[in-house]
Amino acid sequence: MKSEFIFLGPPACGKGTQTTRLAEYLRLPHIDTGSLLRAEIKNQTPAGMEAKLYIDKGHLVPVELVSKIIKNRLSQADCKNGYILDGFPRSMGQAEQLTKINNEINKDVEDYKFSAIYFDIDTDILVERIVNRRSCSKCGEIYNLAFKAPKQDGICDKCGGELTQRKDDTKEIAVSRFETYNNETAPLVEYYKNMGVLETIDANGTIDEVWKRLLDIVEKGITKV
Ligand code: AMP
Repeated sequence: MKSEFIFLGPPACGKGTQTTRLAEYLRLPHIDTGSLLRAEIKNQTPAGMEAKLYIDKGHLVPVELVSKIIKNRLSQADCKNGYILDGFPRSMGQAEQLTKINNEINKDVEDYKFSAIYFDIDTDILVERIVNRRSCSKCGEIYNLAFKAPKQDGICDKCGGELTQRKDDTKEIAVSRFETYNNETAPLVEYYKNMGVLETIDANGTIDEVWKRLLDIVEKGITKV
């Protein structure tokens, strides 16, 4: 059985933290388009240079570019039992691309489950969360200075790496990212609900509280398409 999960929710709703944990728990690859794009930027590839123009404004990078990256990634051998997709799709066009990609990739797969999980959260607190977010430059562990601070200032508890702040985690760019989310991504909640594959979780509360709710949903079984 191949298990495919996608996650919907506004910026800083906790998807990154929870999906990383879920990927470890289910032993599936965690595929996060934001990190894939930031890696392209770091390596100064042509795709990265193009993506940077959009990321720096809090806009979505063009669908063709991100779909190509996703198709390459989902075709790799480690995705044969499924994947945890974090940050894709983020628009109707991307949702259509994902269906197309899955149809191609799964043409010889006998049995697979597709599930969309929506993190429903009170958005008032999220800009504050974004400006306090830090991540490890080595292992990617996510911290928050307000509610999940590292033991030692600027140093990752897990691997001792240096903690850095994402360039787009400023108040100005965060506001633009929320606008993009509301216009482009939020309609996908209805789209996947209508397909009968959507589960919603209350994403308010502590990391452990949300994790429990997520596990409940995952363990109760996933809608089959
Ligand atoms: P994230 O790390 O998920 O917050 O994403 C950071 C930025 O990367 C977003 O604000 C977008 O500019 C870009 N990005 C990430 N995922 C996508 C996607 N699926 N489609 C287009 N742009 C994306």
